[in-house]
Amino acid sequence: ATPTSIMVGTGKGAENGILIKGGEHLERAHNINAVILDKTGTITKGQPEVTDVLPLNGRDDDLLRIAAIAEKASEHPLGVAILEKAKELGMDLPDAERFEAIPGYGVEAVIDGKTYYVGNRKLMREKNIDIQNAEDELISLEEEGKTAMLVATDQKLLGIVAVADTVKEHSKEAIEELQKMSIDVYMITGDNERTAKAIARQVGISNVMAEVLPEHKAEQVLKLKEQGKFVAMVGDGINDAPALAAADVGIAIGTGTDVAMEAADITLIRGDLRGIPVAIKLSRATMRNIK
Ligand code: ADP
Ligand code: MG
Repeated sequence: ATPTSIMVGTGKGAENGILIKGGEHLERAHNINAVILDKTGTITKGQPEVTDVLPLNGRDDDLLRIAAIAEKASEHPLGVAILEKAKELGMDLPDAERFEAIPGYGVEAVIDGKTYYVGNRKLMREKNIDIQNAEDELISLEEEGKTAMLVATDQKLLGIVAVADTVKEHSKEAIEELQKMSIDVYMITGDNERTAKAIARQVGISNVMAEVLPEHKAEQVLKLKEQGKFVAMVGDGINDAPALAAADVGIAIGTGTDVAMEAADITLIRGDLRGIPVAIKLSRATMRNIK
């Protein structure tokens, strides 16, 4: 494309809250025929809130308090949600004696000399915690699109804390627009398959890549590229940066982390997914102008 048509294109992008790093990225975007969307913080607002506190024995307050102390040093939105709820209820939350985040699994913490875990089924399996009597409850929460976290000591399960994250206002519309443009749309997430599918259903996505560990997101991008797709990856988190770099076009959410924006070719400043079809159309128009 000519320098002038590129300037016009990037200018129009900027007017629409779409920051394009360079002319070559604007040119490449017209080839996109597959879009992978991260779930949390990209399709959804990424600010989950606690909806259910379900102790197996004992009181709600005790379960929430243990989970909140264990997550106190957590930077993960799930941990932040638990901590916020406990603070809102005015709970006294001392620091844990030891804290470790286990990406894709949950957290481990030592409180009053005892070890606790907060996380998913994979974490509990790893630590040999039996979760059989919570399974029915987990399934029904997940079918509602909630993310259910298990809370346990190193001996036994204590209960479940579930959170819900809301879909952004324009996600469904943006996804429908991409599908109308004959672009395949995928959801990718570290969350469990049932929760992921419930959210995917709300926005009209049928291709779901769930339970993908952070370090494996880029591999999923490469797999689609090997199938001959020209892939755009859209994400907001530190975890998404390698996948954004691996994609033909990396698109970051401007309300997300700086690391994602650095790795991306295009940033949607307001986080509105309608910027994706707009950017592709802008690219198509720019390329038409040169011929
Ligand atoms: P994503 O950002 O795609 O939702 P992550 O890879 O960050 O996924 O997390 C995947 C899963 O690991 C979460 O859905 C949750 O089950 C578990 N997990 C990760 N971090 C935490 C945490 N701090 N507390 C509880 N569970 C967690
Ligand atoms: Mg995310």
